[in-house]
Amino acid sequence: MIGVLAVQGDFLEHVKMLNSIGSETREIRLPSQLEGLDGLIIPGGESTTIVQLMDIYGFRQRLVECSNQGMAIWGTCAGMIAIAKSLTDPRPVPLGLMDIEVTRNAFGRQVDSFETRLTINEIGAPELDAVFIRAPKVTKTGTNVQILARADDGSPVAVRENKLLATSFHPELTNDTRLHELFLEISSK
Ligand code: GLN
Repeated sequence: MIGVLAVQGDFLEHVKMLNSIGSETREIRLPSQLEGLDGLIIPGGESTTIVQLMDIYGFRQRLVECSNQGMAIWGTCAGMIAIAKSLTDPRPVPLGLMDIEVTRNAFGRQVDSFETRLTINEIGAPELDAVFIRAPKVTKTGTNVQILARADDGSPVAVRENKLLATSFHPELTNDTRLHELFLEISSK
């Protein structure tokens, strides 16, 4: 069972994509609904709002425990910001799950959104169409963090640390289900 955090942002697109590949899916609005999940997706949206709502509903401590107990967690865009260990911005205060430092809105103000093709060995050919929307950049990675893909400027845009996955872009906004399939595989281990 995969949960999609449904407090703000584009959670519905993740739910639809998971359903399309046959995954059992649950929208998560309260910490009690985390019970029994193999994996959780934290979607894109506005990271300050998402983290603020998570704190209001009491997710923070519970998610740290779930992650320690082996639940897979995938943060996309704002979700990547939420699960980082540290940010170069003062807000929000991230959950500190994944050993990465992240800079918000880091691809420049002129190009708020863009699409590019990424090579990701874990999912094979062809390249993945990746949609970036006011996207964050990974500016530091810890020693156990594996870089799955880099943007044209060399910055990591898909990273993995054991059962934690983070992507700067929005795989739920294309028709390519391969990263969701990879997350199902990570969650089932
Ligand atoms: N710029 C947003 C933030 O900092 C993230 C954008 C997104 O999730 N597409 O929260």
